[in-house]
Order: sequence, then C-alpha cells, then structure tokens
Amino acid sequence: MPDSPRPPTTDEPPEALARGVVAACADCDVCRTMLVDGECPVFGALYRLHDREAEGRGPITGEDLRGMVGLCTFCGLCGCADIRGKIIAAKTGFVAREGLRFSLRALSDVGRLGKICGAFPGLVNRLAADGCLGALAKRLVGIHRERRLPEIPGEDFDAWVRRRGLHRPTTDDGRPKVAYFVGCSGRFLFPAVPRAAVALLEAAGAAVFVPAQVCCGMPTLLEGDREKSLNLARANAARLARLVDDDFTVVTSCPTCGYVLRNLWRERAYFSEAYQARSGGDAEFLRVPGEGPAADDGGFVRLRRSMYGKILRDDGYFAPVDPLARIRVGENVRDLGEYLRATGGLRRAATQMEAPPGRLVYFAPCHQREQKIGRPYQELLAAIPGINLTLVDGAYDCCGTGGLMGFKKDFHRQSLALGRPLAEKLLSLRPDRVVTDCLSCRLQLRQMTPYPVSHPLEVLAQPGECGAAGPA
Ligand code: SF4
Ligand code: SF4
Repeated sequence: MPDSPRPPTTDEPPEALARGVVAACADCDVCRTMLVDGECPVFGALYRLHDREAEGRGPITGEDLRGMVGLCTFCGLCGCADIRGKIIAAKTGFVAREGLRFSLRALSDVGRLGKICGAFPGLVNRLAADGCLGALAKRLVGIHRERRLPEIPGEDFDAWVRRRGLHRPTTDDGRPKVAYFVGCSGRFLFPAVPRAAVALLEAAGAAVFVPAQVCCGMPTLLEGDREKSLNLARANAARLARLVDDDFTVVTSCPTCGYVLRNLWRERAYFSEAYQARSGGDAEFLRVPGEGPAADDGGFVRLRRSMYGKILRDDGYFAPVDPLARIRVGENVRDLGEYLRATGGLRRAATQMEAPPGRLVYFAPCHQREQKIGRPYQELLAAIPGINLTLVDGAYDCCGTGGLMGFKKDFHRQSLALGRPLAEKLLSLRPDRVVTDCLSCRLQLRQMTPYPVSHPLEVLAQPGECGAAGPA
C-alpha cells in the first residue's frame, strides 16, 4: 500500500483543522527541535503561535492559522503524513471559502503560463531582462523581485515532439511501449531534458509516445485550489488509463509528477467500492493489496468492515477522480531513472562512457525519495568509470522551493530559509556541477548557489544525440 500523505477532504472549518494541528504538534513537540531550525517554516510559526498563546501574549487568530498553513510546501520532511495532510486540507478549506488571488491563480496555472510564455519567447525574455518592465511584470503575477527567472526556450518540447511525430501513438512492432509524461518545467522551460529522455528511451529499445497531457496538479494543490487540481487529474487519469489498457508503461522524468501520479492518486483508492467489486471484497471484508503473514497467495489482505470500514474509505484529496483509473495509472507509472535502471542497457552503456569533467554532486530530491525506489540515477551515474560523484540525500535535505511557491513574493524569504541547509551543504562540497532530477530544485539551486545544474539525463545522454549538451 502507498504510504504517502493524505490530504483529506472534510467539512470541518479550516481554522478547526489548523487548530487541531497546533494542538497535536504542541503536545508531541518532536518537530520543535527537528524542524524549526530553518528546515520548515510551518513548525517555526506553529510553535511561535502556540507559545505566544500559552504564555498569555495573545490568542491565535484565524489569520495566524491561515498564514501558518500557507507556508507548507508539502515537502514530506515532517514525521506525520496525517499532519501534513491536515495542513493541506486546511489550506484547501481556506481557499474554498475565501477564493484565490488572481496572481496566485495565474502563477499556479503552470500549463497555461508555460503556453503563453512559449508563444512569445523572445518578447518574454526581453521583458524579463529589462530592469523596470521585468520588475513590473513580476509584480503583476506576484513573483518576488529578486527571483531569477529561467530563459524561455525558442522552441518548447511540445513543438519538438510534433516535428518528430512523437505525438502520434506508436504502432505495435514488438518494442516496449512507453507513454512519456513530461511535466510542465521540462515541456516549457528545459526542453533539453525531455529530449535527452527520449534519446535514452529510444536507445533502450522503447517505442516512445508523448501523449496529450496537462499539469500533474501539484502547484494548484499547493495553493489550495482543489477544483483545478481535480480537473487536471481527471484529464490526465482518463488519458493515461486508456494507454495503460493498451499496454503502455507510463514513464516520467519529473519526480514531482511521479509522486503525484504514483503515490497521491492511489492513496486510499483501494478502499473504493469500485475497486472492492473487482478485488473480491464483500459485505463483510475489504480486500486490498498487502504484504506479510496475513496476505493470501495473490498478495491481498482482508480487513473486517465492521472494524475498519468507517476509517478505510476512498475519501482523500483525489477521491472524486475515477479510482480504478487512479490505480491502473499509479501501478504502471515508472520514474524514468527507475525504468532505465531496470532495462540494464544504459548501465552497460555507462561503463563505456567518458567521465564528465570535475566533481559532480547528485542531489536526490524530496519527491524522488518519497517514491522509495532507491537512487536509480546515482547508480547509473556511478557506473561511468572514473566519475567523481558525491551523493546528497539526507532526510532533511530540501531545496525549499515547493514548486512555484518559492517564486511568490510572500514566500520567497521562507523558501530561501528552507533551502539554506542544503545550499550550505553543496557550497561546502564545492562541486563543479550539481546534478538533480527535479527541475524546481534546479531553479532554486541556480538562485542560491553559483554552480551549473543538470538533470542526470543530460549527463547520461550522448552529446549531440538530443541537443542535451550543457548544464544550465
Ligand atoms: S508532525 Fe508529527 S512528529 Fe512532528 S510534532 Fe507534529 S505530531 Fe509530532
Ligand atoms: S513544509 Fe514540509 S516539513 Fe513543513 S509541514 Fe509541510 S510537508 Fe511538513
């Protein structure tokens, strides 16, 4: 069973949910020492508010609670999945009741923003480079004035896909069929990364199809816009489930997209009545995938409804999306590094590669770590003879950007504080290049450190094969 956080839906007022989090965490106190020291702004705010009220220096207000839950980037560093689930639920509740500012709606609609910028790349780049106009544009969409913006590429990945004909489904020719879920940052900001992905997948013998797709929904989930997140999930789930039925493996090079599709979508879907009707559940028992001595030969466990039926229900964040589609896709999504590691060919090819120059530090991003698939890219890179590679993947290492949250003017400073321990670790290692598979981390590390940052695919792809030449 997936063990990812569960953003629950609830009829409880958001203030009550957030209050419950303050009470639980003040009582437990573990994160006071573990996470207030720059690692998480939520716990810093939570304990400040709790102590202020407990010491009679002022009650915790609704505005305080709204501000506190607004700081959560859903990074997963804290100990309790249900606590971060409640924080996101409270954030969602505030937005459902009070709405979302235009600038936040615009900024979190990454797909639309990417398409608009991609239609006029020259103009957008000139605007961003102009001191006065750039500052004005940032203010209009709520981006902090000190944020470095990535350059919009002259040709986005979607245009390249159409030129290569990869938007047409592959016919059955005996090769393994891969449906590539790219992710917005790769599609609109760093197309060299998905081009490298396609080159490596084709070299591994896969027939690659890039289906129509929309944002995975993490940016809108983080801003509390559940309606938009669900609409995005419905569109992706319907398309991807049809492809899984047609023997495609869904592969993604974005750890956050993988985390959403694989972990968050599936969360609690196994308890849905639609799944129970398929899996052999009945009026007395739920039948769900499981391990251990209680599991039957098919890898299922039976849970008595009279004991668990009230709490084990498909009532999580993505519950309104077809549970069978969520399960079919979630069970058939692979991280691209994981897929390439399993095929074996790239590891053999890596043993023949020339080592990239200098010292490389590979940072395993939070949402990659949350998928519990080991460190496939580190393993593949380590197979290159003579490579100088160091791994950074501490339990509290986080870049702090939270997707687009770090770009917002009212979260910029907290985002940098959250990422500072990681940035300091990297600075102490003095790499020639940082390597990470998360393109949001890439944006943040380019903001916070002087090093070039690459996706592992750009290191592993042969130069010239896909235009994936340089770090950025
Ligand atoms: S998140 Fe969990 S571990 Fe951390 S303080 Fe709250 S209850 Fe304790
Ligand atoms: S920001 Fe990360 S560590 Fe802090 S509450 Fe949210 S998920 Fe937990």
